[in-house]
Amino acid sequence: MSESIHTLWENRWHPLRQEWVMIAAHRQDRPWVGEVVGSGAPVLPAYSPECTLCPRNVRVSGVRNDDYAQTFVFDNDHPCVSLHAPDDLPEASGIYRNEPAKGVARVVCFSPRHDLTLAEMAVEDVEQVLYVWKDQFEELGRLPEIKSIHMFENKGEVVGVSNPHPHGQIYAAGFVFKTIEIEIDACEKHAHETGRVLFADIIAEEQRDGRRIVCENEHAIAFIPYFARYAYEIFIAPKKAHADIRGLSGEELSALADIQKRVLVRLDNLWRMSFPHIMAFHQAPTDGGDYSSFHFHIEIHPPLRKPNVLKYLAGAEVGAGNFLSDTIPEEKAAELRALPEVHYKEIGG
Ligand SMILES: [Zn+2]
Repeated sequence: MSESIHTLWENRWHPLRQEWVMIAAHRQDRPWVGEVVGSGAPVLPAYSPECTLCPRNVRVSGVRNDDYAQTFVFDNDHPCVSLHAPDDLPEASGIYRNEPAKGVARVVCFSPRHDLTLAEMAVEDVEQVLYVWKDQFEELGRLPEIKSIHMFENKGEVVGVSNPHPHGQIYAAGFVFKTIEIEIDACEKHAHETGRVLFADIIAEEQRDGRRIVCENEHAIAFIPYFARYAYEIFIAPKKAHADIRGLSGEELSALADIQKRVLVRLDNLWRMSFPHIMAFHQAPTDGGDYSSFHFHIEIHPPLRKPNVLKYLAGAEVGAGNFLSDTIPEEKAAELRALPEVHYKEIGG
């Protein structure tokens, strides 16, 4: 990487979050004496008798998992929300207010195999998982108590996941999640001012520039956005606007699975490790509103900025709400584009 493309002190506008991201890539090389994350991953068994997610095992609730062959969905044994949340809460006083935390929390097992990740699964199986997300969104979106559905995967010990069994989670809530509310506001404002879909304009600009695209096919695209807050933050989206995953055709879901798999393989190949991430589906609320200006997409937020070095959220991010990025999106996308789309474990590693 040439020193000359390091931009110094540049702020980039995040059009979906309506906030500035401070790009300070010259800081990436500052000396690091803090924590490093171990990369030596243990070899996992295909089935673990201790795992609460493996087929046939008994969970903490005493319920036995199905002997599932593909995917498996169950209600979270420790839900953060519940349709049975009691209505008789103690009344909040003064300016404070509260409400029962109505909702549904579920766990989605991506595979019966304890030792696989989405990056290592066959693309047909990655596609099958997308169908499960879609079915879940359809089912939960019909519940009158539910206003917004957050579907996500936390992956890796550095984001607090102790069980490596491939799985995601669903929080279906009685309120609209804040990030979605912020994005909806931005999309509606943009539609009002220009008559266009904001995310479609983002895709168009990424395609015109081209430097930040990781990969694309006929119906889906992956890129590190111009305004990325994390070093290897990747947006994956269908090219056509849909408010949520329900509207995608079979062809579009296949295309999305293809891109998802290719992106996750590249991330694993980057440092030859199972790449940790938070992967979130950004979808419109299910409260009956008109969200035609919203464009469903998946955001991947990896917490690592260098091999074994975590991006800490500190004074700027937590204290003031704006990200300080130590990297330049164009450079990070070029790194990912240079990598093979065959998983390193398959090639032999
Ligand atoms: Zn397992």
